[in-house]
Amino acid sequence: MSIIEKKHLIVAGPCSAETEEQLMEASLGLKEAGVDMLRAGVWKPRTRPNSFEGIGAPALEWIKNVKKATGLPFTIEVATPQHVELALDAGIDVLWIGARTTVNPFNVQDIADALRGVDIPVMIKNPINPDLSLWIGAIERIAGAGIKQIAAIHRGFSTFQPTQYRNLPMWRIPIELKSKMPELPLICDPSHISGKRDMVFEVAQKALDLDYDGLMIEVHPDPDHAWSDPKQQMTPARFGAELSQLRFRKSSPGDQVFIDQLEELREKIDYLDREIIEALGARMKMSELIGLYKKDNNVAAFQLQRWQEILKTRPDWGEKESLTQAFVEEIYKIIHNESVKVQTEIMKKQPSKT
Ligand code: PEP
Ligand code: MN
Repeated sequence: MSIIEKKHLIVAGPCSAETEEQLMEASLGLKEAGVDMLRAGVWKPRTRPNSFEGIGAPALEWIKNVKKATGLPFTIEVATPQHVELALDAGIDVLWIGARTTVNPFNVQDIADALRGVDIPVMIKNPINPDLSLWIGAIERIAGAGIKQIAAIHRGFSTFQPTQYRNLPMWRIPIELKSKMPELPLICDPSHISGKRDMVFEVAQKALDLDYDGLMIEVHPDPDHAWSDPKQQMTPARFGAELSQLRFRKSSPGDQVFIDQLEELREKIDYLDREIIEALGARMKMSELIGLYKKDNNVAAFQLQRWQEILKTRPDWGEKESLTQAFVEEIYKIIHNESVKVQTEIMKKQPSKT
């Protein structure tokens, strides 16, 4: 089994390899914390010029020493065919493609071409923009080069809006990827999603609750003085302590009693869903009748006042059933939209009396 197929794979290490001492200290601490694989950026794709752009090839020598000292596999980011060649020569175990590279099919194809005929696992981060096809396209390009062991890393999507996250998680996108490619291991990078160390493990737990296959977290022996991403990195000691508090979930229930009980609860849900659908069907029929009546009296399908009334009352009714106002409002927007659509169709089809 390839390392990236391990359930609950834990990858950690500094954002950037800065000095041999820094890399060694982080790595020895992480070995003690029980990680499966180490990481570090050797070439850093920085948003602005004149930021630290990585040590480059000399860091590959430090990685060789770290691998000897810890016995752990090591992963680095590659963004060009030359990076691939140098990484392979240095005996790097797993490669990853960064978010700024995934966005560009030319770059991804260049990397794929450099990987043709090579047997190495590759992890592909989501593109910085929320585009599932672009992510899938990158995965297909790497798979097309004959790479068999591929994983996806979810690191969030950039946004101009100020939010609590550095990169919006938009969980629906990675979940859709998983449902399209169920065999593909899905790893969460909560460091780049949260952008701040106090939030990293909260996001990591959410990923585990969603049955992610692994985590990649940035760790630095002196985070506040890190040469890149200082706010989101934490010490190996803190990382170890927080890691031990994570609740790792089983993908599927093991024991029979649990399965039976789950089945029973799901049957109740099925029954309730039927009732919801029947009620929606009855409501839509009523709406058709109203549509005919409006048509006969030459009245517009959309009635603002009525819509305002619905939007005011339904969320209040929902609250009595412990449903959030936002949830009920969202549902009624969809229902009302469909009603108006049905009524305008009726108006188009049926001849008017007036
Ligand atoms: C990184 O992992 O350090 C990195 C540069 O990540 P991303 O490509 O997700 O920005
Ligand atoms: Mn980083």
